[in-house]
Amino acid sequence: MSVPAKFTGQAALAKQTANAFDLKEHAYTPRAFTENDVVIEVEACGICGTDIHYITCGWREHDQFPAIVGHEIVGRVVRAGKNTTHKLGARVGFGAQCSSCRECDNCNAGMENYCTRAYVGTYQGPTGDKVQPYTQGGYADYYQGPGHFAIPIPDGLDSAVAAPLLCAGVTVYAPLKRYGAAKGKKVGVIGIGGLGHLGVQFAAALGADTYAISSSDRKKGDAEKLGAVGYINASDTEAVLKEHKGSFDIILCTSDQNDMPLNEVYLPLLKTFGNFISVGVPDNGLPHIGGALLPGKSITGSLIGSPSELEAMFKLALEKDVRTWIETRPMKEATQAVNDMTAGKARYRYVLVNDNYVKKE
Ligand SMILES: [Zn+2]
Ligand SMILES: [Zn+2]
Repeated sequence: MSVPAKFTGQAALAKQTANAFDLKEHAYTPRAFTENDVVIEVEACGICGTDIHYITCGWREHDQFPAIVGHEIVGRVVRAGKNTTHKLGARVGFGAQCSSCRECDNCNAGMENYCTRAYVGTYQGPTGDKVQPYTQGGYADYYQGPGHFAIPIPDGLDSAVAAPLLCAGVTVYAPLKRYGAAKGKKVGVIGIGGLGHLGVQFAAALGADTYAISSSDRKKGDAEKLGAVGYINASDTEAVLKEHKGSFDIILCTSDQNDMPLNEVYLPLLKTFGNFISVGVPDNGLPHIGGALLPGKSITGSLIGSPSELEAMFKLALEKDVRTWIETRPMKEATQAVNDMTAGKARYRYVLVNDNYVKKE
């Protein structure tokens, strides 16, 4: 299989503002190929909230433009280095991380996502290459990265449905598993969106009594379809506490709302030694934490997942029928898709697809 010298993607040529995105076709020369790498021909790439933060410089100012984002990438291997285990033609995916040091304590323990020395993002990460000094992502025709971070996609999963699991999926699956979501446990998932709709499904798939927690009643119907046994409208503080105070083992927070009722509702809902897990942080940070923390409550964070967690997640998704709710858009219409995403229209994930994508029924 031949690999072109240049990869072509939909790039932000400069910093842009939300709802006025304008991505342009951009060809770049990838960093030099090594025997640890694979190149995949991209079939599908999900649109993640992080993509938007990088295009707008929302988290921090940067000057790495043109920027091709996208880190929920599924495609077929068209070139495989000798040191990789991947076969030509195999379907694999890259999530938010494409490299780590492979030597630190965390990497040695299979927690590459917590690498303390050399975490490299799938896009905007350092390459050490003069021609292309930072990684470019999956809104493109090809992607190149270390084979260790290319995760096999099970045959039964559609490429576009699988793509968002690589970032959104593992971001919620990994902490649910780590903190013990299982049969007999009560789990709440705050925010029913790209992350949350997967959080509800994975918590239910792990066997937990799963509640969707939202700030209105709008998502009630969806929550039920996703496998929630209950629905909590957190804006009705008194009724919520009366029914559920001190009863949750885990509350997984996927919301990045600045005014979340952490002290008033979420911490009181936890059991003693219960865990509030944040996988997204509001721009202003979490609310000031008061005495509601003292009765043995914990607040913790979690960042994506490791290659082994990704593999375990795909296995569970296949077994328990966890599926991303998606809408596909042609790769060339990336601009419209990111504008629609920031306008809040996604139910619950847009996935960009190239012409080689074939839908699996
Ligand atoms: Zn992401
Ligand atoms: Zn490391």
